[in-house]
Amino acid sequence: VADGTLHVAFGVTEPDAGTETPAIITRAVRDGDEYVVSGRKVWMTKASLCDKTLLLVRTTPLAEVARRTDGLSLLLADLQSPRVSITPISKLGRNAVVSCEVVFDDLRVPASDLVGEEGQGFRYLLDGLNPERILVAAEALGIGRAALRRAVQYAKDRVVYGEPIGVNQAIAFPLAESFARLRAAELAVRDAARRYDAGLPAGEHANLCKWLAADAAFEAADRAVQTHGGFGYASEYDVERYWREARLMRLAPIPQELALSYLAEHVLGLPRRYGR
Ligand SMILES: Cc1cc2nc3c(=O)[nH]c(=O)nc-3n(C[C@H](O)[C@H](O)[C@H](O)COP(=O)(O)OP(=O)(O)OC[C@H]3O[C@@H](n4cnc5c(N)ncnc54)[C@H](O)[C@@H]3O)c2cc1C
Repeated sequence: VADGTLHVAFGVTEPDAGTETPAIITRAVRDGDEYVVSGRKVWMTKASLCDKTLLLVRTTPLAEVARRTDGLSLLLADLQSPRVSITPISKLGRNAVVSCEVVFDDLRVPASDLVGEEGQGFRYLLDGLNPERILVAAEALGIGRAALRRAVQYAKDRVVYGEPIGVNQAIAFPLAESFARLRAAELAVRDAARRYDAGLPAGEHANLCKWLAADAAFEAADRAVQTHGGFGYASEYDVERYWREARLMRLAPIPQELALSYLAEHVLGLPRRYGR
């Protein structure tokens, strides 16, 4: 996977289970040396271009488990099979990668392609969530900075009523504010990445930096569109694309609400809301 010879997608989200992961209903039933998988995933990034997916399935029905997060397993399943149908989803942005709905119709997966122990999949999944949040936060920073750079340049170049629009504080201050917010988010991202690399607990830091960076990036992109006036709406200036890309970071891999929920529950010790 690391050297790019094997392409692996990530299949967790379903039509009726996004933030509520334990509600997934894609089933894997053991049959001899194989699992038989049936169900439907949505939003699987690059599924049509990947050989395999790391697939979250239910191996024990919800009604039979003590905790809702029990009975879930991770399989390394084939995507390029007649038992798998893949349909691209039309979307707002992120057109560099295809997002797919994927239907599994009795796909057979060798039991040797079970990751770790059966029923422990949710725990393995959690291990990957912090780095994913830190990574997406870093991505958001890049988009925010690109948008801000374009906005600043346009504010210097665009002349209205005989002067560059950037002399107006109503243009300059929001851009300065976005610069400050992006910089603060960057420090939080670096702090989270440093902790994760050092093997320290990073849940608080990963959620916090994802939340800060996603908001800072979207705000910067929105201000870049505003600074460009009507041209902000034209594809030619790219800022509408940054706006669409930055919007995604507030939704995925987890919505902003879920990042706040983590901080409220795990850091501030407030009563649990999600997964009650
Ligand atoms: C471009 C893109 C790529 C993606 N790639 C992948 C991928 O490769 N693999 C994969 O498995 N998934 C992928 N996803 C899915 C993504 O992880 C989910 O969309 C995300 O987890 C949210 O789930 P949902 O859409 O079902 O939202 P829902 O769970 O339906 O929630 C809807 C909204 O309600 C809010 N909400 C719910 N409960 C509460 C509450 N108690 N209080 C306040 N707010 C609440 C949520 O925060 C959210 O904003 C991708 C999504 C997108 C858009």
